[in-house]
Amino acid sequence: MPALRGRGASTSTGPGDRPDHPGLVDRFGRVATDLRVSLTDRCNLRCSYCMPAEGLDWLPDERLLTDAEIVRLITVAVQQLGVEEVRFTGGEPLLRRGLEGILAATTALRTASGRVPETALTTNGLGLERRAAGLKAAGLHRINVSLDSLDRARFARITHRDRWDDVIAGMAAAAAAGLTPVKLNAVLIRGVNDDEAVPLVRWALERGYQPRFIEQMPLDPQGAWDRDSMITAAEILASLSAAFTLTPTHPATRGAAPAETWLVQDSGTPGGTLSGTPSGTPGGTVGIVASVTRPFCGDCDRTRLTADGQIRNCLFARGETDLRELLRSGAGDDEIADAWRGTMWAKEAGHGIDDPSFLQPDRPMSAIGG
Ligand code: SAM
Repeated sequence: MPALRGRGASTSTGPGDRPDHPGLVDRFGRVATDLRVSLTDRCNLRCSYCMPAEGLDWLPDERLLTDAEIVRLITVAVQQLGVEEVRFTGGEPLLRRGLEGILAATTALRTASGRVPETALTTNGLGLERRAAGLKAAGLHRINVSLDSLDRARFARITHRDRWDDVIAGMAAAAAAGLTPVKLNAVLIRGVNDDEAVPLVRWALERGYQPRFIEQMPLDPQGAWDRDSMITAAEILASLSAAFTLTPTHPATRGAAPAETWLVQDSGTPGGTLSGTPSGTPGGTVGIVASVTRPFCGDCDRTRLTADGQIRNCLFARGETDLRELLRSGAGDDEIADAWRGTMWAKEAGHGIDDPSFLQPDRPMSAIGG
């Protein structure tokens, strides 16, 4: 599938262009069933690749969707548009006081096939220690916790906050609460933490967590992303292969999942042993989300709702559809569903990062929802 993004493409089309399909289909045959909901653009960390140390201009309260508005849109998505999985993110979603209530309302819904929608949370883990059990009780199924370094001082340098212990405690509490598998998300930055691929994998697998590396994407507000300084999936694989034997589990199991995954086994080299697992015993899996060097746009099944009620058909979309205004002007569910379908119908074939005319979206990652 071509990875080109047309300039100035609109984000929605009239119903005349679309087939009569209830779901979120696009012109390339993809069907979006995975909804990413950003609950806030605020964060209590300042990861250097994501947010400046002084923070950003936060969205004003009156533009943020209320809990009831978020639940209404999720309800439309699940009951009318075929959404089967809802992932809550941000900003930092644990900063949203109503998170547990939104979760409970989401898991009370049923998909067209009568199933409870799958729910997941992407979090930095701050405050998770005391909320993990409540999140589980509210119906949360799975969790991803971001951790870029095993070194407390380095973590503090990357995030501008000395909160490493909170993250570690949060991950343990999530596992104890049964929010499994706990996935560990890490972004490697050249010259900062790019020596931590092997230690992070070993540390995670020894605790029963699933490590995943995410290639750094051009979504920083500073516009400082640079392809040459990005740590690529190939580099990560090379580091890991020096310590472990990696066996791909894909493509058979990848589908629309963003991460390619490998089974990790001790390679028998010094330092390659996974403690608690005898040499040669599978230690678990490692994932790599190579959005830049191995894009998976052709299988993308995602649709995104920002904290201020904008629908985006791609992380890198340059346009959005304002459902907040539609909601607040009294539109009915059918009208909202149709606007959502139109937005997704206009989805581009690919994110276009490799296109010379690629422009970074105006919103940074923290305001879209990663
Ligand atoms: N605050 C939550 C967290 O830390 O997981 C959720 C939002 S955060 C934007 C989601 C994930 O996106 C984190 O794992 C973070 O490291 C990652 N991230 C942020 N900016 C990124 C970028 N430019 N490229 C790749 N990943 C990024």
